[in-house]
Amino acid sequence: MGLAYRYFDVKMNVVILLSNLNDGKSIWNEIINPWQHNSIKIRFVERQNQYLFIMYGYDNLNNTTTFYKILPRSSNYDRFKLNCNNEAYVRLGIYTQKYQSESKFDDVCNCSHTLKTHDYNNGTCRSFSCICKKFITFQIVLLKKKKTITNIKFLKTHDDIKNDPVVWNCFYVNNLDLN
Ligand SMILES: [Zn+2]
Ligand SMILES: [Zn+2]
Repeated sequence: MGLAYRYFDVKMNVVILLSNLNDGKSIWNEIINPWQHNSIKIRFVERQNQYLFIMYGYDNLNNTTTFYKILPRSSNYDRFKLNCNNEAYVRLGIYTQKYQSESKFDDVCNCSHTLKTHDYNNGTCRSFSCICKKFITFQIVLLKKKKTITNIKFLKTHDDIKNDPVVWNCFYVNNLDLN
């Protein structure tokens, strides 16, 4: 579904967001966990106001799986790029909706107003001119397992992209141009 960046460890964390806990567990156990430590790579390619995230690795039978996503550039991405030092922990996270009954008064609704601003009984937002009828916010639950990645690169030139077969294949399969 997307990516999140977290800063609470010695290394930065790249969190791959999924919508479902069971998918998360099987993706971890069947794909990411068997990857050989030295084979795991993350590549970022910036394109105007977006960036391409690509992560891949090889298990001991030399099978590879690639995760990729085109994402809007964000201040979190820029901060990660500046501070990661080409290393990070990768982990999985579950991105879920949270409703009024599970939320705290300061939690912010998708309409940008806090729970406090919403009517306690029927859930509608009381902020002037807001049309929100129901408080919904998002939360990220992180799975505990993590893997260290020491091979992160931010690819800049066309040659960088063409010289990495997995990245180049990703461009090809998704019909992306190089600009
Ligand atoms: Zn509102
Ligand atoms: Zn709202």
